[in-house]
Amino acid sequence: MSDADAMRTVAKELDLDWVNLDEYPVDTGAAGMLPEEIAQRCGAVPVGRKFGIPVLAVSNPADSSSMEEMKSALGRDFVAVVADESQVAEYRQRLYAALAAGIVAREAEEQRELAERREEERASSAVASGAGFAYDGSAGAGDGLEGASAEMDDVMAGWPPLARVLVAAGRVERAEMSAAVQEAAHGGDVLAHVLRTKGLVTEEDLVWAMAEEVGLEFVDLDTYPIDYSVGMLIPETTARHHLVLPIGKEHGSPVVAMANPADVFAMDDLRTVLGRNFVPVVAVKSQIVTEIDAVFRRGHDAEEIARSAAATASGDVIALGEEEGEETSLDLASLDAVVEDAPIVRYVNLVILQALNERASDIHVEPTEKNLRIRFRIDGVLHDMSTAPRSIAGAVATRLKVMGDMDVSEHRLPQEGRTSLTIGNRQIDFRMATMPTVHGEKVVLRLLDKSSGLIRLGDLGLHSEMIERYASQYSLPYGTILVVGPTGCGKTTTLYSTLALLNSSDRNLITIEDPVEYQVTGVNQLQLNRKAGLTFAGALRSLLRSDPDVVLIGEIRDVETANVAVEAALTGHLVLSTLHTKEAAGTPLRLVEMGVEPYLVTSAVNCILAQRLARRLCTHCKEPYDPTEAEMVAAGWTEADLASLHQLPQMYRAVGCQTCSSTGYRGRMALGEMMVVTDEVSLLIVERASTKTVRETAIEQGMVTLRQDGLRHALEGDTTIEEILRVVA
Ligand SMILES: [Zn+2]
Repeated sequence: MSDADAMRTVAKELDLDWVNLDEYPVDTGAAGMLPEEIAQRCGAVPVGRKFGIPVLAVSNPADSSSMEEMKSALGRDFVAVVADESQVAEYRQRLYAALAAGIVAREAEEQRELAERREEERASSAVASGAGFAYDGSAGAGDGLEGASAEMDDVMAGWPPLARVLVAAGRVERAEMSAAVQEAAHGGDVLAHVLRTKGLVTEEDLVWAMAEEVGLEFVDLDTYPIDYSVGMLIPETTARHHLVLPIGKEHGSPVVAMANPADVFAMDDLRTVLGRNFVPVVAVKSQIVTEIDAVFRRGHDAEEIARSAAATASGDVIALGEEEGEETSLDLASLDAVVEDAPIVRYVNLVILQALNERASDIHVEPTEKNLRIRFRIDGVLHDMSTAPRSIAGAVATRLKVMGDMDVSEHRLPQEGRTSLTIGNRQIDFRMATMPTVHGEKVVLRLLDKSSGLIRLGDLGLHSEMIERYASQYSLPYGTILVVGPTGCGKTTTLYSTLALLNSSDRNLITIEDPVEYQVTGVNQLQLNRKAGLTFAGALRSLLRSDPDVVLIGEIRDVETANVAVEAALTGHLVLSTLHTKEAAGTPLRLVEMGVEPYLVTSAVNCILAQRLARRLCTHCKEPYDPTEAEMVAAGWTEADLASLHQLPQMYRAVGCQTCSSTGYRGRMALGEMMVVTDEVSLLIVERASTKTVRETAIEQGMVTLRQDGLRHALEGDTTIEEILRVVA
């Protein structure tokens, strides 16, 4: 792996953009932000501003002392983009040379202007003294105007910045502002207040001007494409206390709307809560409050609406639903839109909105003997969310069936349906299934967020040591990488993150899937069509003729696919695929059992990564405790492990707060077990040794098992022992 490739990987792991400065919109004036000496020492070059925040191209983002030094030199946070070292050096030389030349040129220009002005002054005083009539007020109208404007500029120079900014932007007339400034000065009132009482400005004008003054971007939240999923990066109390709300992401950093960007306490708090730098933008207070309400609206709202829905006759739901059957865009984010609808529709909309806010992947709507039970699956685990009166169960099921384009008159057979909604700027696909139960129809909705995009390999939560070992495997030009585990363990996500890292213009990438789960630009993706006779093996065989470098096969399910994959790996292609096996060591044997020759398995497979997803502790509410030795042993540490520790480590337990929907966990991370097919392992496979023997040899050669990897994460405070024991049986 070349240095550039290595740095590219580091950039991806740090969630920073890798840029080609030749194609980047470099602002040649940006160099003035940072002294050249510091830029040189830190291997960086300023290249522009984003929302008023300096953007620096750095060659080594992992060098934290340099990053700190630049931050203190700039006196503020900056956005880092990563570029090739030689390019950074080239641009640094060019920009600072241009800056120096610019300063010299500007000085020369100033000298020239000064000389000209002196010349003019001399000439005009000659005219004035010579002719004596230039200042009588009737002659020289042009001069008079210029004089007035110069006078006005002097007047404006004495104004507060807010006044200057508003006048310069043409939002307030000069004369009106002049009067307002005087009134404020005389009455000892705040200028902003005077402007508001006189009706000269709107709240928006004022906030815009404030943003302008401090060099931040002003956003109108009514039109800004808010990403509601990032809103809950901060607790509701912080959002309400400081009137701030994360509204999106930019270069991997949260974009936070603030009502008062001059509030340094809010800035500090946010940095602590977010645990990282962020991009502040300014928005009107009332809009921020509305959006905070939208993001943190809680389940009791839904329960209230459910009660009012139960109180109203719901016989008209079917007709109402049919009218709306065609709609594909529901503005759930707007409370107004919800209020206008019939109670049952409002109720269903709120449940869906709440599910999105709580990061749920599935919604279970289940009639029970006593009530209608709503459960959400969050981070892979089902949670009870709310209940509604039993009497609306039928109407809710009907409404959902209408949305999913199902037969509303059929109650006795299971049905499947789907719909797609645009919520905020997110496009969410819903797959629905109904099931007749003794208490009525149960409906399950699966939420698929199309806009969530690819997760970077570094963000999967795999241990850094594991990522390093994995990188040495996927950078090989050919062979096979298998990611294995049960359904829903994140295999496909890992493969796609790997594919994204390999996605460069000099490689031809192909995927064969059923169904295509993520769409990736720059990759040729083939959707299988079994009904038309297009199978994995058949598709793969023909695709290999189109000269791919990397082939991603959704899943190896049969011997035919396995054999073509092996053939591809042995003929100079890198094959990425998944297999449904429990552990890394057992996977080669599974391929042999499927009917692949053992010697082909060992020569074609580079490595096997077994994976599980464990819930990550919520950083807002996790609680430290001191585990007992017995607990540690029960979790899988050996007496010897414990003896080698001077003292028992601190662990964390799940508590639950508003940020994590009271689950104590927020988000998930991948646990991994990576077995490299070494010579020793190969020999065992050819000899058809047992999984146990293969596992023992792999461990001797440094394989960290899933359980050990999980415990390692628990020790680092990322998760709990209970969670590890839950996912790694
Ligand atoms: Zn929490």
